[in-house]
Amino acid sequence: MSQPLLMIPGPIELEPAVAAAAARPPLGHLDPELVAMFSRALGGLREVFRAPDGQPFVVAGSGTLAMEMGVANLIERGDRAVVVDSGYFSARMATLLERHGAQVRRVGAGLGDLPTLAEVEAALSSGPARVLTITHVDTSTGVLAPVRELAALGARHGALVVVDGICSVAAEPLEMQAWGVDLVLTASQKALGAPPGLAIVMAGPRAMAALGARRTPVASYYADFGEWLPIMQAYEARKAAYFATPATTLVAALDAAVASVIAEGLPARWARHGRIAAAMNAAWSALSLRPLPRRPELAAHTLSALYYPEGVDAQLVGRIRDQGVVVAGGLHPEARARYFRVGHMGATGEPEIRRTVAAVARALGQPEQPAVAAAIRALRG
Ligand SMILES: *Cc1c(COP(=O)(O)O)cnc(C)c1O
Repeated sequence: MSQPLLMIPGPIELEPAVAAAAARPPLGHLDPELVAMFSRALGGLREVFRAPDGQPFVVAGSGTLAMEMGVANLIERGDRAVVVDSGYFSARMATLLERHGAQVRRVGAGLGDLPTLAEVEAALSSGPARVLTITHVDTSTGVLAPVRELAALGARHGALVVVDGICSVAAEPLEMQAWGVDLVLTASQKALGAPPGLAIVMAGPRAMAALGARRTPVASYYADFGEWLPIMQAYEARKAAYFATPATTLVAALDAAVASVIAEGLPARWARHGRIAAAMNAAWSALSLRPLPRRPELAAHTLSALYYPEGVDAQLVGRIRDQGVVVAGGLHPEARARYFRVGHMGATGEPEIRRTVAAVARALGQPEQPAVAAAIRALRG
């Protein structure tokens, strides 16, 4: 049997050009072809993040390393941090901040909800915060945060604004420079559409200045922007340099993925993810599946988080897999066994939507045709 369709919130299915780049034998890290790819990928990431004045860092590791790089470089022991808490990955950010010596104030709401802007502002007003962190899409809950409004609050209170864009960059609208976001991090395997294994960070000018103004050295050697900056600058200028061996195969795949994002165009890609989400929502509503985000405007466009219906449990995920589609179980500790998640980012198109909706319908014992038809109607607008 052929490999099942991978519809989890990362890693995701690859476009053929990205898969082909990833399937080549590895290039050396000094190979001129690799240097050219690395240079193109770094420059292209500035476009993807909408950060013409940003400094990209691409390092072997998963998204959690990207989170740790952001924290390790911006936080010094005793700094205050405000975390907008929208789920499991916001909690992870709080843990990382604490591990690096920050005093963390988590501002959250119930499962599937977000704190109000006034609640976040109150936390920022209660004392100067070094950073405000926002999880753009919390992949555990499918909750989408209003980054633009939150970033404006952070800037108004003098905090550096850090966005975990691991499940949003290249799919949800994000204008790093225009919205005053100081650092955005992501990973290769989510909406960027490359294989897993690269931590990607874009640091804006205020974040880089904060690094230069530190009183203490960055505690992590591998995560230190200072070690990586000359390497990234060299590669972007089409010169090779060595600090720690880059994941050359993944850099080649990233180059192909970034080229594809730019060829599609960011506004077109954001709009396409909006249509995919509308199609999925139409199908879920036809199947009477209730979303975990409490209001439609809180729902991400990169994945669906859905409660199991009455009388159905986590075995549903296995039954969907038996239909040839891989979806993910729950992740948030409060509700892990009560919901499942379907990723729909990157190369997802009409055939993938049809297969996924049909598989979920069949696994639920419901007729697939009405749900598929509802999805396709919504997709075509
Ligand atoms: C996937 C994800 C992470 C963790 O990334 P890893 O690559 O698994 O380390 C963190 N935050 C968000 C929002 C994510 O979606």
